[in-house]
Amino acid sequence: MDDLQFGARNKRGDWAPSAPLEFAPFWDWPPDPGKLARWLVGYVWPWNVFHMATALAYWAWIVPSTEAMQTLSWGWALWLYAVNAAGIFAIYGAVELFYYIRKKQGTRFKYNARFPAERPSDVFWFKSQNLDNFLRSFFISIPLWTLVEVLFLHAFARGWVPGLSLAEHPFYLAALILVVPAIHEVHFFCIHRLIHTPLLYRWVHSVHHNSVNPSPWSSLSMHPVEAFLYHAVALWHLVIPSNPILALFQLHVAGYGALNGHIGFDKLELTDETALDSHAYAHYLHHKYFEVNYGGDGVIPLDRWFGSWHDGTPAGEARMQARFQKKKARLNAGA
Ligand SMILES: [Zn+2]
Ligand SMILES: [Zn+2]
Repeated sequence: MDDLQFGARNKRGDWAPSAPLEFAPFWDWPPDPGKLARWLVGYVWPWNVFHMATALAYWAWIVPSTEAMQTLSWGWALWLYAVNAAGIFAIYGAVELFYYIRKKQGTRFKYNARFPAERPSDVFWFKSQNLDNFLRSFFISIPLWTLVEVLFLHAFARGWVPGLSLAEHPFYLAALILVVPAIHEVHFFCIHRLIHTPLLYRWVHSVHHNSVNPSPWSSLSMHPVEAFLYHAVALWHLVIPSNPILALFQLHVAGYGALNGHIGFDKLELTDETALDSHAYAHYLHHKYFEVNYGGDGVIPLDRWFGSWHDGTPAGEARMQARFQKKKARLNAGA
């Protein structure tokens, strides 16, 4: 595919999309029905359908029986960890293999023309971003993801919170499914904003930000505090009326969905004419500039409300620079 039909490349070879990033069109007034329909398709397909499919598959084949989960034990916890690790290895690994190792589409649609493997750096374990990110994902983040999973499955199994059945609450649960990605965004924005406060940034979140040019393995490369808070989004389903399948869906939007922000390509070419939108640009800009786009995919315009939105355009860039200047002036005045 010709990526220059969709964007432009600068002298360094970095590609950027020409269309500005937008929030969900139901925030526009008056709403445009055609745009709304197109957005809704992209909201559901393919990523959220995929997360729901994996949640259903877990419920059908992976999650142990209710009786087994009434007792906490290493057996079923380690089984869940093994499946989560295998799932991440297969899915993140496939993107890494085809687009970062075999480089099947070169740097077409790639925001940063360089690949992380080209840049050894002291900030990473063994000076390798790939190895550092990989080890942190499998030995820190996925265990904590599994801990969250064990906690809510155990709570539902013990009946500490009732699980709503689809037969009795079809409309409520269908609506809740559609709201799950919005819950993710609000939760992520709040914890993300929190760990960008100076002390927590240095202590916790800088680990994730070492990857200025993220790749799939960067997605779950986190400090333990961040990894727990991030996956704890699923625990909201112990607070709101819900059931374990929706809690799993919420968890998969976080765990498997973290990939999206860190794919590094705007589109993944599947054939010569078809490509998958990665939804990665907003979070890519966050890795590039740190203090913009704390939220997710634009379902809820939190970054606009809090003044930290960068839509990828020159105007967005100018707004960000003006904000940085103001902050610098404030800091200088304080000093
Ligand atoms: Zn990130
Ligand atoms: Zn951040």
